[in-house]
Amino acid sequence: MVVRISTAKQSGDLIQSPIMSKALVIFSGGQDSTTCLYWAKQRFDDVFALTFDYGQRHRIELESAEKIAAVAGVRQEVLDLGPIFKGLSPLTDLLRDVEQYDDVGALPSGLADTFVPGRNILFLTIAANRAYVLGCESLIIGVAQQDYGGYPDCRQDFIDKMQSAMASGLESDLKILTPLMNMTKSDTVSLGQSLPGCMEALALSTTCYNGAPPCGACNSCLLRAKGFAQAGVADPLLVRLSKVAAEVRS
Ligand SMILES: [Zn+2]
Repeated sequence: MVVRISTAKQSGDLIQSPIMSKALVIFSGGQDSTTCLYWAKQRFDDVFALTFDYGQRHRIELESAEKIAAVAGVRQEVLDLGPIFKGLSPLTDLLRDVEQYDDVGALPSGLADTFVPGRNILFLTIAANRAYVLGCESLIIGVAQQDYGGYPDCRQDFIDKMQSAMASGLESDLKILTPLMNMTKSDTVSLGQSLPGCMEALALSTTCYNGAPPCGACNSCLLRAKGFAQAGVADPLLVRLSKVAAEVRS
C-alpha cells in the first residue's frame, strides 16, 4: 500500500493518510495489454482488467484474457459489446479473410485493413466509466505509435485528445497511461522480461488475428515474431505450444 502525504489547502495542516492506488487496464489478452497488466501490477496497489467482447474473430483471445487475469491475480470484467463493430474489418466480419504475408518486409504501409474504426474511441469511453466507478485514478491502454498498421487511434495525438475530452466530460483527474506508446515491439519484449511473471503470462497470450495456433503470417503474428527476434528472446507462447505438440506426439 502506498502512503501519500497531501497538504490540506485550507488549513495548511499536513495530513498523512493511506490511499490505495488503483488502475484499470484495457486488457485484450494479447502481448501488449498483457505487458501493460504486469507493468500496472508493479506500480499500483489494486489493478483491474477490463476486457471487451466485440465479436472479434479470434475468440481465443478472450480465453487468453481470462486465463492471464487469473494467473495475474487481477479482477477482470468482460463486457459484451454485441455486434457494434460488425462488418467494419476482417476482425469483425467472418466473411472477409485476414491478409497473410510472406514476411514482415511484405507488410504494406499505411492503414492496415484490420483497422476497426472507432474501436479505441469506444473502448476508452467505456473504460473511463468503469475506472470512475471503481475509483481508479489511472486508465492504461497498450497502444504504440510504432510497428502498428498505421492505426490512428494508437497515436499520442489521439490519446491527448481523449484525455482532454475525459477531463471535461468527467470533471475528474483520471489519467490515460500509455507505457508502450513510443516502444518498438522489441522494446515491449524487453519490458516484459523485466516484469515478474510477465513472460509466463505471455505464454498464454493470443496475438494472431486468426486465433490459435498462431498462423505466423498475419500482420500481428509477423510483428510479434519480429519483436521477439530483435530482442533475442524466444517467444514463450511458441515455446509452450512446441512442448504441447511434442507431448502429443510422444
Ligand atoms: Zn497470425
